[in-house]
Amino acid sequence: MRLSSLFTSQAAVSSALIATTFFTSSAKAQDRTTEQGEAQITDPGQECAQYSYPPVAAALAANEFPPIWTVATILSSDTNAQAKYQSIQSQIPNIQPKGTQPASLTGDFSNFTYPSSDPDCWWTYDQCTTPKLAGLPPDLAVVPEPDTLGYGFDDGPNCSHNVFYDFLSQNNQKATMFYIGSNVMDWPLEAQRAVADSHEICVHTWSHRYMTSLTNEEVFAEFYYTMQGIKLVTGVTPTCWRPPSGDVDDRVRAIAHALGLRTIIWKYDSNDWRVGINNITAANVDQNYEDLISRAQNGTYATAGTIMLTHELNNFTMSEAVKFYAQLKAAFKYIVPMGVATNQTQPYVETNYSLPSFEQYISGTTTISGGGPLPTGGSSGSTGSGSSSGTSSGTSSSGTSSGGTKSSTGAASRASFDGLGMLAAGAAFVGFAVKLLA
Ligand SMILES: [Zn+2]
Repeated sequence: MRLSSLFTSQAAVSSALIATTFFTSSAKAQDRTTEQGEAQITDPGQECAQYSYPPVAAALAANEFPPIWTVATILSSDTNAQAKYQSIQSQIPNIQPKGTQPASLTGDFSNFTYPSSDPDCWWTYDQCTTPKLAGLPPDLAVVPEPDTLGYGFDDGPNCSHNVFYDFLSQNNQKATMFYIGSNVMDWPLEAQRAVADSHEICVHTWSHRYMTSLTNEEVFAEFYYTMQGIKLVTGVTPTCWRPPSGDVDDRVRAIAHALGLRTIIWKYDSNDWRVGINNITAANVDQNYEDLISRAQNGTYATAGTIMLTHELNNFTMSEAVKFYAQLKAAFKYIVPMGVATNQTQPYVETNYSLPSFEQYISGTTTISGGGPLPTGGSSGSTGSGSSSGTSSGTSSSGTSSGGTKSSTGAASRASFDGLGMLAAGAAFVGFAVKLLA
């Protein structure tokens, strides 16, 4: 805690009062305008009090992004997205969305009939990872390097991840962070921390739905606006993604591939995200970690490494990662980000970043090199890329007062999301995944 240094000046006191009244929560006079300042906060209540980051507030106010936590669609004013979508049409196979919305959005495919031959390589059906559509690379479900764990965490950025990220930094451990676009817009400084700490960022969609249930345009928009949001906030554009709940088929893969995104899945599910659902307990999660550790000790990964699904979804999932880190480190020879495990030395579309190769990483070079300073929220004048859509009529007719746009609706929907309400609905269908570690 650094509270002792808070009230050293009248200015700090004033800003504290403003922050308290404006954001209603227990926010103190922490610096919540920079990545470095935000990273200092370790009290979850303070971390998860909302703040305003001007570039995001301005972009949302200008309708440059879909509403957060809703299924993304291509905005009528977004000619760049429309042009990109048109340009990839020939690469999208004629495979229909699966199931019937809204049930299928949360994984209920119970009334959907599907051939047992698995024509679409639908992971949710049988964990298929080798596409049947020509021209698509296989999903990454294991890693090629022996005795190696591909290390990553889904569903961030979590607003209270600082203690966990501190732990990773203290261990000089990098990971792949699969970020949800809506979380990035809600917690931009937390997203920036992944770049500052040299973690690798991949896409985990805009609204975290079952992707095979969406239309082509929705699938595209879920990818596209997450990539745009991560770019706006962190300055980088990912080249990899992980499907929420693993729900991917060749249609979704093809759209991801056309956008330059590699599909990363997993071999084992820790089930850390499912505690409290379908009688999954903390002890089950412990057992899954311990099984993975035993397999590593038994030489299961002597010829090729593996990937286990783990999350920064909540404090339990993060504390499990901390709890078992030392044992994983002892059982595996190497624990590395996915891009390192596969020698993807250019992690982002922006070519001035370089991820260490596997050999470089295990020799001690763990940080991503290159890139410039992180974007800042200080001057709202330099929002960067085109707001050329402003001239089109309609959507922006109401006032453009950007101050109060950081609304509470995001917090409300996020609360239900973090409470696993959405994920729980999918548990019945994907229940067989529990067998993977049995
Ligand atoms: Zn997820």
